Amino acid sequence: MTKTRRQWLARARGAQTCPIRICRGPLIDETDGTGRASLRCLRCERRLAGICRDCPAPVEGSLGKAVRCARCKVVARQVAARRSELRDRDGRRRRARARYRANADQREKKAIYSRAWRARHEADVAKHKRREALRQSPSRLEYFRAYNAKRREQAPRGRGPSRFAPLLTAASMEFDTPTTQTALKIKANAHQWAKYHGHRIATRLDSFVGRTTVYMVQRARA
Ligand SMILES: [Zn+2]
Ligand SMILES: [Zn+2]
Repeated sequence: MTKTRRQWLARARGAQTCPIRICRGPLIDETDGTGRASLRCLRCERRLAGICRDCPAPVEGSLGKAVRCARCKVVARQVAARRSELRDRDGRRRRARARYRANADQREKKAIYSRAWRARHEADVAKHKRREALRQSPSRLEYFRAYNAKRREQAPRGRGPSRFAPLLTAASMEFDTPTTQTALKIKANAHQWAKYHGHRIATRLDSFVGRTTVYMVQRARA
């Protein structure tokens, strides 16, 4: 018995799989004709004979070290890569996001590209915004609430009181709206303001005179 064989046997005895690191094949207990028990690793025998682990082709590489033929090597590498990809996927994604967030340079590059893309695809952006707004998904609404709250906290409104503030004490206000465009704008702004504060208002456009009136219907309960 060779020294290598003796050493192998010493490590293999009592083990479930072959002790050789590149092998780890199943061990087989055998009894020869004379009644002596012996241990075998068919995978190692295959490797030492230079036969691919997964098919009958000869191995690629040096005899005794190489485990697979060229084709099976490619497949095995793909399988291993896929398995490693699935291992702790969330953790790796989380770490990648953290690395990206910490990298101001890369973020700036991406922001420049995104701005340019949005400028080139204005119609697409508008369509997307509209669709998202109509969808009213809870997570998005939550995001906007948090975003706006943070903005308010960072930069308290520097614009002074709203131009609709007089409505808090007066029953109505009038605005010159020479064009339909300006009338629609005043109307939209007024309703936005009322919605934000919880007031009920009404608007009326006198297109003949070019004037829009905003009425306070009911103030929000304080
Ligand atoms: Zn083995
Ligand atoms: Zn093969």
